[in-house]
Amino acid sequence: MTRAFLAIPLPDDVIDALTRVQQGLPEGRAVAHDNLHLTLVFLGDVGAEALEDLHDTLSAVRAGPITLRIDGLDLFGGERPRSLWARVVAGPELGALQTRLESTARRAKIDVPRRRFVPHVTLARFRPGGGVSDGFHRYLVDRAGFALPAFDVHRFSLYTSTLYEDGPVYDVLAEYPLTG
Ligand code: ATP
Ligand code: MG
Repeated sequence: MTRAFLAIPLPDDVIDALTRVQQGLPEGRAVAHDNLHLTLVFLGDVGAEALEDLHDTLSAVRAGPITLRIDGLDLFGGERPRSLWARVVAGPELGALQTRLESTARRAKIDVPRRRFVPHVTLARFRPGGGVSDGFHRYLVDRAGFALPAFDVHRFSLYTSTLYEDGPVYDVLAEYPLTG
């Protein structure tokens, strides 16, 4: 079994800007520079056959280019945050692609968790159950207006994730163009 997910890789200048906004984070574990991405579908542990099936179908997807914008920071978990993330704003084509990929995964007999799609880039994760400091609130207030110019994406990728004590390592198994 392979732990896998589908995600959109981000342009270097967007990664750099997100890395800058991570600076000064008083607590939590910042997501490594190389790991910043926009998850479309978390696949979980997938067998080789299902992964092959999925790959064959995804290779035929040509959904068209997608324009994304990063606008604002938010938390999952509120006062006891699990993660800090940057909100991703897009037209209906992003949601349409996400829905299509999720159905494709289900048709490949992958048991995708049912969750509302909230387009985001995770920037940091926190210890479960722990609260946050005044310093963290200040960090958020200082970055309240954080936003980046719109950018186009032309592909999505199939990643594997290997979990280690000091954080996950992602590898790109395959890339799928949205155009062409
Ligand atoms: P760690 O779990 O060690 O904190 P991680 O969350 O980055 O690291 P994975 O758990 O392998 O690594 O997750 C890979 C990607 O899928 C991440 O973007 C993560 O936020 C997302 N993800 C993980 N589990 C789910 C889930 N149940 N539903 C939706 N997305 C998920
Ligand atoms: Mg995880």
